[in-house]
Amino acid sequence: MGITISAVKETMANEKRVAMTPEIAKKLKALGTQPRIETGAGVSAAFPDVSFKDAECVADALAGSDIVLAVQPLDDDTIRKLKPGTVLISILQPHASVERVKLLRDGKITSFAMELLPRTTRAQAMDILSSQAGMAGYKAVLIAAQASPKFFPMLTTAAGTIRPSKVLIVGAGVAGLQAIATAKRLGAQVEGFDVRPEVKEQIESLGAKYLDLGVSAAGTGGYARALTPEEQAEQQKRLGEHLRGIDVVVTTAAVPGRKAPRIITRSMVEGMKAGAVLVDLAAETGGNCEVTEPGKTVWTDNGVQVIGPVNMPSMGAVHASEMYARNLFNFVSLMIKDGQLNLDWEDDLIANTCLTFDGQIKHEATRKAVESA
Ligand code: NAD
Repeated sequence: MGITISAVKETMANEKRVAMTPEIAKKLKALGTQPRIETGAGVSAAFPDVSFKDAECVADALAGSDIVLAVQPLDDDTIRKLKPGTVLISILQPHASVERVKLLRDGKITSFAMELLPRTTRAQAMDILSSQAGMAGYKAVLIAAQASPKFFPMLTTAAGTIRPSKVLIVGAGVAGLQAIATAKRLGAQVEGFDVRPEVKEQIESLGAKYLDLGVSAAGTGGYARALTPEEQAEQQKRLGEHLRGIDVVVTTAAVPGRKAPRIITRSMVEGMKAGAVLVDLAAETGGNCEVTEPGKTVWTDNGVQVIGPVNMPSMGAVHASEMYARNLFNFVSLMIKDGQLNLDWEDDLIANTCLTFDGQIKHEATRKAVESA
């Protein structure tokens, strides 16, 4: 008999996604494994228990499972219940909790943190950061459009002409490019800005304008590096001036492994027009805007709304789950042979995504952080 692969019901507040969909259950079965879904796990993502024709619906997804799939990190008590040698695959945010990493290590859990997956070409179909960022960028623009007291498109009406909203997307990675595309579809006049100059072409290919603030911070591996204080000052001066004419700003900037870069200061927000809206997609990781409060909308005295939404991918739980579950399936496929677990440590995707194995912390930066805590 093949190994058992189970998806848990998420317990974090406002988490609507699920790590296994009916489509993926069918594929896991075809691999010779036994898929299981915890009762009610898919309901909030519109996948009721009855839709899982190829998975056994179980009250306790942990008992007797060889591989456990989840979206959010399991809580500490749940981790304690896992039997040694269980494979756990989910978002694990190792930097966020030393305690969690210790529990995984000491419980001899074989844990894979999907956010550690190398971002190579072969890994693209498993890349949860990209798939979930796409949903986040899309929703951020819809939130902004909903909150804005203006139309996005230009309108010519009997009551006069309406000028299109000016939308600026700061950070043109996966989320930012999706935000640009979404704002364009809504008819706004869109500009995109990033410190990596190579994104200019991508921004322009979406029909938006590249905002050149004269600062370049191309880093290694296609990511941005942190800016020097001088570069940051120059960027901020020019950006502050530009923001005065903007109706909607969506910020999506990030530097891997660090707090979100602080790009928009309180005084810049104070210089913006009344009625302007800022949606900060980095609210959960420190915020790109100084005014942002995670999970809240802050109204400034000059009439600007600064919105700090959290867990944006969960807002599009159906498609976000479909993409997430496919990402996990593609990753799990690397470790299944003839329906059995077959971990190939020579595979760089397996080796580098592993957080803990057999009582050890395999991810070097996390090991150092835990040892020095
Ligand atoms: P991210 O979420 O780490 O960052 C988002 C964006 O913020 C990046 O474009 C970054 O340049 C930008 N940024 C950082 N500091 C900034 C600042 N001070 N001001 C303005 N912008 C700032 O990145 P991401 O979206 O996950 O990925 C970035 C890029 O990595 C992608 O566009 C792509 O080129 C590459 N990538 C490759 C793969 C792959 O090959 N498997 C997968 C995903 C991403």
